[in-house]
Amino acid sequence: MSAVPMDQREGWIWYDGEFVPWKDAKLHVLTHGLHYASSVFEGQRAYGGEIFKLHEHSERLVKSAQYLDFEIPYSAGEIDDICKQVLVKNNLVDAYMRPVAWCGSEEMGIAATSNKVHLAVAAWEWPSYFTLEDRLKGIRLTWSKWKRPSPEMIPSFSKAAGLYMICTNSKHAAMREGYTDALMLDYRGYVAEATGANVFFVKGDEIHTPTPDCFLNGITRRTVIELAKKAGYKIIERHIMPEEIKDFDECFLTGTAAEVTPVSEVGEVKYTPAKACQTLVDAYMKEVQPS
Ligand code: PMP
Repeated sequence: MSAVPMDQREGWIWYDGEFVPWKDAKLHVLTHGLHYASSVFEGQRAYGGEIFKLHEHSERLVKSAQYLDFEIPYSAGEIDDICKQVLVKNNLVDAYMRPVAWCGSEEMGIAATSNKVHLAVAAWEWPSYFTLEDRLKGIRLTWSKWKRPSPEMIPSFSKAAGLYMICTNSKHAAMREGYTDALMLDYRGYVAEATGANVFFVKGDEIHTPTPDCFLNGITRRTVIELAKKAGYKIIERHIMPEEIKDFDECFLTGTAAEVTPVSEVGEVKYTPAKACQTLVDAYMKEVQPS
């Protein structure tokens, strides 16, 4: 990614109903979202000028806020239109987009019932930075010491800022040891997901993936499941124990940013990305292109 800091770029950010110059899209230090994590966001991508699965992302954003007991003052359909405008206004074709909604600075305390709910949408150029050849070498993962919490402990299905605290910690620890990312277990000890992507394991013509009962059922995950079925794979969603992962031949991650990313290593276990990874990387890259 470019070395220009995220707050110093050129362009326009949509902020509470208007476009503001990129560097002016600011908020106050006494913002509820900053102190108490009343903040939800989306990560979506545009390919060839079209935002992939835009409405699903907008709907998830609205629901994410509701899980945190605040209401975004725009409908999913309106958020779709805003996102499209942001792309055009910034002359972007292949881009990453970040809608974010948060509670403002009217009051400071646990309750945010009288705080204004804000919405902003930014987008920036983000071409795929792996060549296909590099991607197929696979990335190295280690295990995280943090566990995905139970849905009884936190609103697990919200794409909420607060849920990323343990993801950032896990990613930092992995990077310090020379890994690209970390795989997290859940509160029961089952394999859950990476810090910002879902995980799949391949054995022959079967693809196994953890049941998303305490983490995001990613939009990419659901897309790739359909593509894998079309390619003739049998999909098995189940609880997977960490001891089992040595029995698989291939492993890959899915996510809006990760797309389909083959994995070459999880801790002690090594994989060689092969036919399934190749097939699904190709199928996904075809699927995201505008028709
Ligand atoms: N899990 C986590 C923790 C994530 O941050 C993401 C990325 N949004 C995903 C899974 C994958 O979700 P999606 O495919 O909808 O991007």
